[in-house]
Amino acid sequence: MQDRELYRRILGIESPWYVERVDLKLAEGEVHVYLEHQEVRNWVCSECGAEAKPYDHQAERGWRHLDTCQYQTILHARPPRAECPEHGVRVVNLPWAEPSSRFTALFEALAIEWLKEASQQAVGEQLGLSWDEIHGLMERAVKRGLQRREAESVGKIGVDEKAFRKGHSYFTLVNDLDKGRVLYVAEGREQASLDGFWETVTEEQKQAIEAVALDMWDPYVASVRQHVPGAEKKIVFDKFHIAKHLGEAVDRVRRGEQKTLKAAGDDRLTGTRYDWLRHPARMEPKDRKEFAQLRNSGLKTARAWALKETGMALFYYVYERPARKHFRWWHSWAVRSRLKPMIEVGRMLKRRFENIITYLRHRVTNAASESINAKIQWVKYTARGFRNKQNFTNAIYFHCGGLDLAPDSTK
Ligand SMILES: [Zn+2]
Repeated sequence: MQDRELYRRILGIESPWYVERVDLKLAEGEVHVYLEHQEVRNWVCSECGAEAKPYDHQAERGWRHLDTCQYQTILHARPPRAECPEHGVRVVNLPWAEPSSRFTALFEALAIEWLKEASQQAVGEQLGLSWDEIHGLMERAVKRGLQRREAESVGKIGVDEKAFRKGHSYFTLVNDLDKGRVLYVAEGREQASLDGFWETVTEEQKQAIEAVALDMWDPYVASVRQHVPGAEKKIVFDKFHIAKHLGEAVDRVRRGEQKTLKAAGDDRLTGTRYDWLRHPARMEPKDRKEFAQLRNSGLKTARAWALKETGMALFYYVYERPARKHFRWWHSWAVRSRLKPMIEVGRMLKRRFENIITYLRHRVTNAASESINAKIQWVKYTARGFRNKQNFTNAIYFHCGGLDLAPDSTK
């Protein structure tokens, strides 16, 4: 029959497989293609690739394939089993699908391409796939991609935490700062969350790590110290995280002062919260002028703000010696400021200083993973179907892992 040959070609079916019959179900808009194979002397063991004697067949199964001429196309076949001298009886690999998938490899490849660009909901509707089917497809793609990822060395990595469901739970991400991709995702933000990453890398890869950008978060610090040789000189506390601590201290000073001023009928600080957090260079000229008055006012908040700005000037230094001198001077100013939040942050930064000054040598921050963060926001926004954390983890690898996701037989 002519359509058997046509479908054999469309589907790319090769010997020993052939199209035995085609069932066109016009009313349902479906094409069912039944595959059979010629007698073979040997199959190939799916475990080791050695010749394996034909054993029997499993019951008939179906695989969703790319639509042909608007018709949903479903392949049917009975997967053969073969007996390997070493591995015993195994199902043989089928040329059109990966083991345990209900879709053909070409269909998966198409769905993967679409999922990279569009929301899970849109792809689900277009291709007629359920959430479970989409998540299964993404999980297989990620598994393949992670297996294919070569043991290449990564010089600069960043460890970052991500809140899931508005701070109810956290994820730990390890990012490749050079290539802007996610290397590892784990639940939680404990030491164990990061410890898992080191099990996925070789000793050579650990040796090759030059710098690790981190928040000042002790569980992460402990994990890096335990696993990275020479960690003391490689840990770089993220400068934006430091700026955040300083900014919070300024805000605490402002809140305290605002109360006192307000009680005395002085509303100079009212509505200024964000002015103290912004950089004057990014203000409108009019706002900048007003703010200049405020910060020259002798208010406590103005002193705290000056401390913050001067503290952050550390990161403009090129050489370590003058930078250390700057910090010593700044620290003594901070601890004598009589502003409790500033004294506290000054002491904290002093305690952490040896891994702050490392910035001058390595110049890494977690901001290099901004492109990753933007994608993760997109993932969170477009994928409302995350029933569990595993799906979220897979979606991060899928979109941000820089992985090769396509099924084997389509490459
Ligand atoms: Zn075998």
